[in-house]
Amino acid sequence: MAGSHIDLIIIGAGPAGLTAAQYGARAGLDVLVIEHLASGGQAVVIDKLENYPGNFSAEIKSGYELMTDFHSQAEAFGAKFLSGSVCSLKKAGSVFTVTLADAAVYTASALIIATGTKPRLLGIPGEKEFSGKGVSYCASCDGNFFKNKKIIAIGGGDSACHEAQYLSRLTDKIVLVHRRDSFRAQKALAQRILNNPNINIRFNTIINEIKGGASSDKVKSVILNDLKTGKIYEEETDAVFIFAGTVPQSSLTKEANLNARFDDEGYIITDQNMSAGEPGLFAAGDVRSGAFRQVVTAAADGAVAAHNAAEYINAL
Ligand code: NAP
Repeated sequence: MAGSHIDLIIIGAGPAGLTAAQYGARAGLDVLVIEHLASGGQAVVIDKLENYPGNFSAEIKSGYELMTDFHSQAEAFGAKFLSGSVCSLKKAGSVFTVTLADAAVYTASALIIATGTKPRLLGIPGEKEFSGKGVSYCASCDGNFFKNKKIIAIGGGDSACHEAQYLSRLTDKIVLVHRRDSFRAQKALAQRILNNPNINIRFNTIINEIKGGASSDKVKSVILNDLKTGKIYEEETDAVFIFAGTVPQSSLTKEANLNARFDDEGYIITDQNMSAGEPGLFAAGDVRSGAFRQVVTAAADGAVAAHNAAEYINAL
């Protein structure tokens, strides 16, 4: 397939990219989805995707199961998938060129950027050093290593509450540290955390440092700072799970020097058609500015982007 011209290339196979693939293929376009990880994006780590409409039977599907269905549906309608890392985007005339890390080159009439986000790092001492040695950003990936162990979790958004809830089934020794005096997570989720006996909540507290033991090969303690009293103290822990939000994966689009615009945090600005400014360039899902970041909104973005990509291609 490399070297051939494709109607629509979608970069990223999370819920936005997978839905765009299905809608693009159903609109009669040949569609190629390029993803460097497995399909499903960040949704795959959600153990019960209970807020996705219709996913509310006796057995609520996990993010992984639902994303597997999204993938199969797109494939059944003819979308093709390629495992690879895109390293550059260019446009000459009305043709986009997508180059992969293995030097394979594809051209397309339209592009949908659905590259999502990645975890925001706290940037504190010890975070990088102990990443993978007790510092984690994903409960369902690493939680099992800390069964019945002490865990300090950081954050007050949907991710922190979701993931703390997941971890609370593995251990009753969770301390959830949040810098404010209330959660920003959806109320139903936040209430579940407040009522969870396995989670000890420390509001108005920040983490200053992550420290290792004598051998320094894994996390041993953290330095916490109570913002109300000013008290700074050390607390032992086996793990630190950080859920401090996300940053957009938009650097590829930025480096392409197209007519795309970005907000102050680097998210891609689109109009209501998901057009990213450059003719034929669309963005969908979490990488898009201002998005309410849910699986359902990502899927909706993907449908709108693919529909408008098809209209754009037909008009060319
Ligand atoms: P988020 O909503 O941005 O929350 C990040 C949390 O981390 C906030 O509580 C923030 O504190 C805190 N934080 C940020 N920087 C920090 C720092 N340097 N030190 C300490 N704390 C820090 O991010 P998210 O929870 O990852 O969610 C991202 C998006 O995905 C959201 O739109 C969310 O709704 C969505 N999401 C949805 C679901 C779901 O519906 N099932 C699940 C997961 C994520 P402040 O509150 O003080 O800003």
